Amino acid sequence: MDYTTQMDAARKNIITPEMEKVAAKEKMDVEVLRDLIAKGQVIIPANKNHKVLDPNGIGSALRTKINVNLGTSRDWTDLDMEMEKVKSAVDMGAEAIMDLSSSGDTQKFRRKLTAECPATIGTVPIYDAVVYYHKALKEITAKEWLDIVRMHAEDGVDFMTIHCGVNKETARHFRQDKRLMNIVSRGGSIIYAWMEMTGNENPFYEYYDEVLDICREYDVTMSLGDACRPGCLKDASDVSQIQELITLGELTRRAWEKDVQVMIEGPGHMPLDQIKANMEIQKTICKGAPFYVLGPLVTDIAPGYDHITSAIGGAIAATYGASFLCYVTPAEHLRLPDLNDVKEGIIASKIAAHAADIAKGLPGARDWDDEMAAARRALDWEKTFELSIDPEKARRYRAEAAPEKEDTCSMCGNFCAVKNMNKILDGEIVSIFDE
Ligand code: SF4
Repeated sequence: MDYTTQMDAARKNIITPEMEKVAAKEKMDVEVLRDLIAKGQVIIPANKNHKVLDPNGIGSALRTKINVNLGTSRDWTDLDMEMEKVKSAVDMGAEAIMDLSSSGDTQKFRRKLTAECPATIGTVPIYDAVVYYHKALKEITAKEWLDIVRMHAEDGVDFMTIHCGVNKETARHFRQDKRLMNIVSRGGSIIYAWMEMTGNENPFYEYYDEVLDICREYDVTMSLGDACRPGCLKDASDVSQIQELITLGELTRRAWEKDVQVMIEGPGHMPLDQIKANMEIQKTICKGAPFYVLGPLVTDIAPGYDHITSAIGGAIAATYGASFLCYVTPAEHLRLPDLNDVKEGIIASKIAAHAADIAKGLPGARDWDDEMAAARRALDWEKTFELSIDPEKARRYRAEAAPEKEDTCSMCGNFCAVKNMNKILDGEIVSIFDE
């Protein structure tokens, strides 16, 4: 191979097999795609050791992609159940799976994932280091943190969230400007605690060049984690968040100097009216690197419904520049999601992504909607089910309240506006009561 990473290839004017596949999926000229990858505005996370990968591109010029978080926890270590969730997530159209396992044999599950799963695979090595070394947090050495990054790269992980931006400077701002919810990022809180207990600089910031060398060797995409993402509306767009973002901008430039692909992670919880500005600030500071948002959740008061609060924010974020949405399930803030929670979370995120693609004016994005409208106008129920984002639910709902007449539904019956307009425009008599 004459290149190391997809970005390196793009800069050398080489079209890789992954670029060909992504361009075909996006119905985009492969040269246009190559140019966007060379500039860092599109990434194709594709670890050389992930042999079964069906690659996807991420960038605001492309279709909005979604990620599904899965993995074991201390209270839930059933690997087969997690694999079942992975399969159903991929079947439902998730482009990426993040393995956030924090208990049990995490390497076994990770290797199974990269051996069998065609979706883009991401991990957070910080969690895994804690499980792997199984010793007091403050005893983990800087070298040991980096060794886990190499292990994940060798295992075929396509992108890694690494919280490099919460360095001593960001931490100083965080202590000065008090927050209501402190740090809510799991990886961010671990590395902050390690820095406090050891007095050392964040090892991923201090040895960032070594991290980049590993990423370059395997073509791992760096997902620059936002330890200071706001965990409630009150903390949104505060000094800690913006200070960290400025650091992430500097780290993006350094990654690009080594041809390492980068995306930036973003909020979090955020009032609706701040989302657009946040997308624009990220685009400016990080020079158009793809933005991966974890929400944003637009209100804090809806446990059990956070797939909805997140889909509202995600749709707005993706309209104004985010290109990758991390799903949120109804179980968010409450428990590990079960299979049904995963399904609900995926569907909510896919609706947000699709709505944003239409708003962005991506060619062909509205075709699906137009087909659905035509099926509805024709009162073609079978076609309506087939086109539904959740055909099983659509079918079940209609069956649960079957109408008296097949050409309407139980909502309006003979008052069916669609049926009556079809009739009158066809020159037929419309009668409400005597049919
Ligand atoms: S009955 Fe009402 S809700 Fe149902 S298809 Fe007709 S217009 Fe739509």
